[in-house]
Amino acid sequence: APVRITRALISVSDKTGLLDLARALHGHGVELLSTGGTSALLREAGLPVKDVSDVTGFPEMMDGRVKTLHPKVHGGLLALRDNPAHLAAMAKHGIGPIDLLVVNLYPFEATVAKGADYDTCIENIDIGGPAMIRAAAKNHAFVAVVTDPADYAPLLAELAEQDGTTLAFRQKLALTAYARTAAYDTAVSTWMAGAIGETAPRYRSFAGKLAQTLRYGENPHQSAAFYTDGSGRPGVATAKQWQGKELSYNNINDTDAAFELVAEFAGQGPACAIIKHANPCGVGKAASLRDAYLRAWQCDQTSAFGGIVALNQPLDAATAEEIVKIFTEVVIAPGASDEAKAIFAAKKNLRLLTTETLPDPTRGVLAFRQVAGGFLVQDSDVDSVTPGDLRVVTRRTPSAQELEDLFFAWKVAKHVKSNAIVYVKDGATVGVGAGQMSRVDSTMIAARKAGEMGTALGLPETPAKGCVAASDAFFPFPDGIEVLASVGATAVIQPGGSMNDSAVIEAADRLGLAMVFTGQRHFRH
Ligand code: 5GP
Repeated sequence: APVRITRALISVSDKTGLLDLARALHGHGVELLSTGGTSALLREAGLPVKDVSDVTGFPEMMDGRVKTLHPKVHGGLLALRDNPAHLAAMAKHGIGPIDLLVVNLYPFEATVAKGADYDTCIENIDIGGPAMIRAAAKNHAFVAVVTDPADYAPLLAELAEQDGTTLAFRQKLALTAYARTAAYDTAVSTWMAGAIGETAPRYRSFAGKLAQTLRYGENPHQSAAFYTDGSGRPGVATAKQWQGKELSYNNINDTDAAFELVAEFAGQGPACAIIKHANPCGVGKAASLRDAYLRAWQCDQTSAFGGIVALNQPLDAATAEEIVKIFTEVVIAPGASDEAKAIFAAKKNLRLLTTETLPDPTRGVLAFRQVAGGFLVQDSDVDSVTPGDLRVVTRRTPSAQELEDLFFAWKVAKHVKSNAIVYVKDGATVGVGAGQMSRVDSTMIAARKAGEMGTALGLPETPAKGCVAASDAFFPFPDGIEVLASVGATAVIQPGGSMNDSAVIEAADRLGLAMVFTGQRHFRH
């Protein structure tokens, strides 16, 4: 049978919806207990409320560090109502039952996000709140615990329907409650790890807040959901969606890949990336955003169909006009003009996402990957190679244009699944070889792609002639270099560091290629 609520303890930092909830509870004849700030508000609103300090016989003390940590509170939350010994203990010590706990915690996450200093963050770690939440959740056989204003309306609906709370309802609340305290302490330990510079704490957890339940996952038979991590990094998790259907799991994954790629070209003039299956099928830079889009699209028109487009500047009308000519799943940009939005409005299914800014490619985040029985954590791949770091290893030094293209190709290769080979000519990709088990295969696939591009554009010869090439990791043998030379590449950028470097450099010299080493590789799996 539903459990009736006779007494509720309300202690909330976020006062959203508080008065409506308290009025409704009072209307159901519930006695209200509350802590300092919360009870002041209730009293002001004319509601009868009893202070917890009157119940415990202790004042709130030590700047609020100790308010509710008392057997009169925790006994009332934890006592089993069908256990004679528990009931006897309650009677003996004058402990009244608490059947509903409404708590939301000190805003620790928001305090960290504001960039508060160490001591302020420490002071915003709630102690009594999580203790009560965990107690009430443990005793969900009898006690309902609400930790989020979003659950006030469902609670009142339950009370109206059931004249109490059902076990199923309390179980769901308890589940949310434990997830909340776990996420809270995760936020604290994650902040502390950063504050004291500890990258491998003994335990590592990560927390997310549900942003969206998804229709399905990577495939229709997989259920899925999307969570925000509270970092506030600009991107698909925080973007505003202006139009189009809900994002799918694959859309979100690909949009993220696309946006992180164009962010590499922040402040370097207009750039565009088109992504399919998390790999770029074209990336272009140009004097205008429209031309950057067209150059990205021309790299692989076949694959660009149904792709995800990311721009490093606000979407303008001229670019929007070009994008709507083919089917595109998602466009993400740091803004969009009203004209551009009006052009997109005609394409109902096209999703348009905007952020305020680009993510900072020099600021890393933690990247997680699940394995059976555990998960791997690493800093995201923030590379520190600048054009000045490149070491020319061949007799021929790259020309200025080659150097610019080599560096562009290197940035793109970082975002291509290994083994990655990227051909670039005049600030745009002309061939991408991704995700092959052999580097030579990626080299040949990129060449084939370039050949197809030449045919599609009616060019007299393949754009691989005179291109530069990037490799995400070293060439273990000269054969990859030989393929590059045979398809017409004139310069190569790669990390170097193979036992066979001297043979690889010799091949480049023999074939007249210029080659630079970065000293850093970009595996991406
Ligand atoms: P109020 O605004 O009512 O004065 O304070 C409400 C906040 O105090 C809630 O966020 C609640 O989680 C927190 N709180 C309740 N009891 C304690 C306690 O004993 N210690 C600490 N540190 N916080 C508490």
